[in-house]
Amino acid sequence: MNVLLTGGAGFIGSHTAVALLEAGHQLTILDNFSNSSFAVLTRLRELTGKSLKGVEGDIRNLSLVEDLLRSQKIDAVIHLAGLKAVGESVSDPLRYYDNNVSGTTTLLLGMQRAGVKKIVFSSSATVYRGSQEGLFNEDSPLEPVNPYGRSKLMIELILRDYVATNSFEALVLRYFNPVGAHSSGRIGESPLGVPNNLMPFVAQVAVGRRKELAVFGQDWPTPDGTGIRDYIHVMDLARGHVAALERLEQGGRFDVFNLGTGQGHSVLEVIQAFEKASGKPLPYHFAARRPGDQAVCCARVEKARQVLGFETQAGLEEMAADAWRFQMLNPQGIV
Ligand code: NAD
Ligand code: UDP
Repeated sequence: MNVLLTGGAGFIGSHTAVALLEAGHQLTILDNFSNSSFAVLTRLRELTGKSLKGVEGDIRNLSLVEDLLRSQKIDAVIHLAGLKAVGESVSDPLRYYDNNVSGTTTLLLGMQRAGVKKIVFSSSATVYRGSQEGLFNEDSPLEPVNPYGRSKLMIELILRDYVATNSFEALVLRYFNPVGAHSSGRIGESPLGVPNNLMPFVAQVAVGRRKELAVFGQDWPTPDGTGIRDYIHVMDLARGHVAALERLEQGGRFDVFNLGTGQGHSVLEVIQAFEKASGKPLPYHFAARRPGDQAVCCARVEKARQVLGFETQAGLEEMAADAWRFQMLNPQGIV
């Protein structure tokens, strides 16, 4: 298919680009590089030996989107462009609703005008209402607790409404915790500023860019007292997009899938895996719980397995090893 990948220079987008190119799709990337580097595009071409079109631009630019969809004869859009920092979404909610929600409605308008009828959208496990069990299937109650999560849920609802009235097809992918990097070490997670998430923070401590990790809480109701999450290797996640695209090729209407491994790991287990991967002790101390956190957040993955035929391959050790390789080879990220 001719695919438009929005946000394709970012962490998940760059790995998804590799998986799409390897699966034989033709690719156009649209990214405004607000949280990524132009250099990623060169690396993608080197890594895959394939050509791709890279366009600097914003999904909120309707005429640009429409022109691109028409000129590249796009069959389907994989929509990853968005802002994702939870704390920033609390302090600047309008920026999040403008970029994520308005950005998506503009993209959909462009698709409507250009007659493009298929979209895969990256949502998040943050749309679920936290529960004691912390195990979510696609029908679990939804109640995001911050503007970032609410922007994701709003987009899901917009897509569902649009599908209901048009010959349009949308698949929503709710990612759990994407980590790791391509095994080449050429692309990976390269956040600007202080990382919000555990794995990139751990990687920067291991490489000496940050002094020490603060572990948020040691009194959670979990076996070792630290938070448990469902970490998924970003290349597995990338292949999930290819599976979703294949499903759309057969005609998918509207559907939602969790993408995770179904297996949880604690913060201390992540630290141990990283110590093993890097061969050095990782300095950390315990700190207070982070507001809004929950003890456990893991995916039920049966639906993605049954309907998409999607199975993950990598375990925590491989995730840590690949994240560490990328960090070592690119201590300052992709610049
Ligand atoms: P990222 O910031 O690395 O990538 C997002 C990309 O989108 C960046 O390259 C950025 O420059 C681009 N972008 C942002 N706004 C844009 C706009 N208006 N127009 C064009 N480009 C724009 O983030 P990521 O981790 O790769 O996340 C990709 C998507 O997956 C996001 O929508 C995010 O909300 C979602 N997601 C991420 C995670 C995670 O833990 N990383 C979890 C669940 C969902
Ligand atoms: N975490 C931590 N220190 C950090 C960042 C995260 O202890 O510097 C913990 C966090 O409390 C959670 C887990 O690591 O239990 C994963 O956090 P992350 O932000 O990566 O993912 P999310 O909480 O959004 O699922």
